[in-house]
Amino acid sequence: MNSQSKIRFCDYDSLKHYQAGSFNSKFKTVLKGKLIEIKKAELPDSVTSSFLNKQYRTYKTIEGLILYRVFGLYSRTDGYVRGASLSGSYASTEFAESLIDAKLRLALDPEWFSTKAYEEKILLPKGTVINLGIVAPVTLKTGTVLPGGADQILLLKDWPEEWVLGYRRITARQLINPPEFALKKSDLPENDKKITMYKIPVCCYCGNSDVTKLEKGEQIEVVGSKGNRYVLRFHCNNPKCGYYW
Ligand SMILES: [Zn+2]
Repeated sequence: MNSQSKIRFCDYDSLKHYQAGSFNSKFKTVLKGKLIEIKKAELPDSVTSSFLNKQYRTYKTIEGLILYRVFGLYSRTDGYVRGASLSGSYASTEFAESLIDAKLRLALDPEWFSTKAYEEKILLPKGTVINLGIVAPVTLKTGTVLPGGADQILLLKDWPEEWVLGYRRITARQLINPPEFALKKSDLPENDKKITMYKIPVCCYCGNSDVTKLEKGEQIEVVGSKGNRYVLRFHCNNPKCGYYW
């Protein structure tokens, strides 16, 4: 074998698309035994209808819980900003597998203008009050149904930023491994514009966005497991990863 046997690269020949929610379910936060139910909080109708069958319960956490929140603000050309901020109230027990999978599992209607470009990993402390249910499906104007189905956790407003363990960019392609959240808040743009959105490649092997787009001379050709040839144009600079694709 040549040096290719030492590098970690994408085998496009064996790449399989998985069903939304089938990969992250193996890593999701288990809630059983970690919550005690308390008096149900009254929520406005706009919020209750985001839960499947408008069903939710109110709990207090009896130990720390890892949660994930997908967000992203979008700035129109006239400077008007909308979308989902990093301090919003909705979170889940599963990480985003890709942009499209997050849209499906969290039923993120494009009309809400969340760019879904980012995800934060949150450590919810013991003793926190949450409302818990399942993400309700959303039918888009086009008739397309976003199925939802992820756990939906509504945090109280103004939850502190200190709960965030890290941030990452969400991959366009499906993740192969549970992602690292290696970014700090200062690494994120305040909001994205049309020209900046989704332009930064993200490693789907480790979730890092410290990635080099290889110049013509640096690109490498590999042979996949079924004998097809591929030119790899990106390299992950995370020293623990080093994935090429
Ligand atoms: Zn990587």
